Amino acid sequence: MSVVVVGAGIAGLTAAAELAGRGVDVQVLEARDRVGGRTRGIEIAPGGWADAGAAYLGERHTALLELMARHDLKTVPTVMEGDSRFDVRGAASAQSVPGRFPPLSGVALGELFDLLDEVTRSVRVDAPWLGPDAARLDSLTAAEWADTNLRHPDSRLFFPLFLGEMMAAAPADVSVLHMAFYLRSGGGLRYLNAFAGGAQEWRIDGGAHRLSEALAAGLGDRVRLSEPVTAVEQDDTGATVRSASGTTRADAVIIALPPVLADRIDFTPELPARRSGERTGPGCAVKVHLIHPSPLWREQGLSGWSVSADGPLLSTVDDSPADGSAGVLTGFVTGEEARRFAALSADEQRATAIAQAGRLFPDLPEPIGFHVTDWVNDPYSRGCYAALFGPGDWLALGPGLTRPHGRVHWAGTETSTEFFGLMEGAIRSGRRAAAEAAARP
Ligand SMILES: Cc1cc2nc3c(=O)[nH]c(=O)nc-3n(C[C@H](O)[C@H](O)[C@H](O)COP(=O)(O)OP(=O)(O)OC[C@H]3O[C@@H](n4cnc5c(N)ncnc54)[C@H](O)[C@@H]3O)c2cc1C
Repeated sequence: MSVVVVGAGIAGLTAAAELAGRGVDVQVLEARDRVGGRTRGIEIAPGGWADAGAAYLGERHTALLELMARHDLKTVPTVMEGDSRFDVRGAASAQSVPGRFPPLSGVALGELFDLLDEVTRSVRVDAPWLGPDAARLDSLTAAEWADTNLRHPDSRLFFPLFLGEMMAAAPADVSVLHMAFYLRSGGGLRYLNAFAGGAQEWRIDGGAHRLSEALAAGLGDRVRLSEPVTAVEQDDTGATVRSASGTTRADAVIIALPPVLADRIDFTPELPARRSGERTGPGCAVKVHLIHPSPLWREQGLSGWSVSADGPLLSTVDDSPADGSAGVLTGFVTGEEARRFAALSADEQRATAIAQAGRLFPDLPEPIGFHVTDWVNDPYSRGCYAALFGPGDWLALGPGLTRPHGRVHWAGTETSTEFFGLMEGAIRSGRRAAAEAAARP
């Protein structure tokens, strides 16, 4: 039995490792010159790494924790002690507040979370297109939902910030069904939003990319880099996969890509339906890292957490290495703001991000290092954090997301209804696809 896996992100590498463990002859074809996909490490100091892509996990991410343990990777806690900084009133009026909740009307935010809970509970998480109200929720954008349901100016102000932080989405980019499904799939909005006890409790010591590197090391020369796949042709005896260096033949193929990228591959015979729709968005995230000699903000009683109504840095988090050998403030630029920021020159990006950090943390000196990771313009990650399903997408695409096309099986975090969009979803999808391919007659 032979299988070609397309894509060396966490999903593809998990599938390949599972198959190799069952004695299957497996090859992984990866477009980039590195493995890891939407996980990527940047070296911020000799031997010190920051996550340019995925970073956080929590105790419900059981497949990820198990895989990490197998590869001797440890968690480090995400530190969130001290006051937060909020600049949510629009006029550069940053203020320090204990805890993580913004200084907005508690009643308004409570109502927002209640409304989100209500719509989240109404979704059928294993098959969102089949829920009782699926058709209506799939026809509306989250922006339309907010217009109808959010009365208080503070909930209207906070909602896009919340969605940007949770999903790297602007409210107009996603259907209500997708928003509600995403929140439910990830464990509910409180779990997804929380640091202590929630989905942001830990990071992977040394960077999330180490997991992909460990999986790839186990596969050795079965992982082939710089091999963008352009076509998959099936016949009675097998499948031929066309990539940069030529063709590879196998009994089955696992496509472990975001849906927008899977649609760029030519399939013969053709797919019965496309994997993405006109409104499926690639997601919008740029990560900015401001590097300091140590987490200096902690000396000022600040956690490093901030939320701003105006960009570019809509939120910041303290992502410093556990040993305090450097201070890493990660800025998240998401949604519309990410599109604007990504269009600026490198000098403009640096100037605007550092100026904003200066307003948020006025006592901090200029950073000694500055990194921008632009996922918006990255041709091989059209899903950041994950693909955004717009109106109509779930009803049209959902039923086919995991349905094999002859010898072709599907993986990738967007094919997992459990922890969709997260590393955990990617691993679960890779395991499912490997089991399907291995069970072929
Ligand atoms: C900024 C950011 C922050 C995030 N934060 C978190 C977080 O804190 N926690 C969390 O759990 N998740 C987070 N995520 C999401 C997480 O990174 C993804 O869910 C996960 O890594 C997806 O893995 P995957 O294998 O499904 O897809 P990918 O990682 O996208 O892998 C697909 C692979 O296929 C390759 N490829 C593409 N086209 C082709 C082709 N034609 N031929 C061959 N190869 C191809 C790509 O180069 C890539 O390596 C974040 C993502 C981003 C971008």
